[in-house]
Amino acid sequence: MIDVLFNLTTGLLLIAVVVGSLLWLVSFAARSALKKIEEEKRGVRRCEKCGYDLRATPNGCPECGRVPTEPKIILLNFAKIGARWPRSSRTLRRVGLQETLQPLWLSESMAEAEFFARFLIACGIPPAIKVIQRNASGRQVRIAQVEVWEDDLDRAKELVEMFKAEARTADLSL
Ligand SMILES: [Zn+2]
Repeated sequence: MIDVLFNLTTGLLLIAVVVGSLLWLVSFAARSALKKIEEEKRGVRRCEKCGYDLRATPNGCPECGRVPTEPKIILLNFAKIGARWPRSSRTLRRVGLQETLQPLWLSESMAEAEFFARFLIACGIPPAIKVIQRNASGRQVRIAQVEVWEDDLDRAKELVEMFKAEARTADLSL
């Protein structure tokens, strides 16, 4: 009888510990997610590489030295992108679990954002498009923000640089 009671108590304790741990994990995940949403609302910017809070030092990360870049509305030369479209699409890179999406390029046109996102896919870079609100001379405008995962950011930025519309004028003046 004592044995049965002992086993029962151990069993119940074990269940309590397991359930307790699970509840703690769920609440931890929920709190992290809420904190992130709250931070985004307050406009807190974090380092793209290490997640350090950059409010005090917006021009560079004191922790890892990365200089943050604001995505801008840049006109791209779409004819040039079309001409450089990879003949055979690459396999999409596998995204790591720790990676976060980083803003890459802004466009006032959803069609252009989709075109560039398709080009990124053809280059093996998985993209995302987010519609954001920007304040432009007193009125709210909807802007398409193309995002990439952090390990693709440098390569994707090179592509944006490569297809800047200014490059076309430079080409024409030659
Ligand atoms: Zn950092």
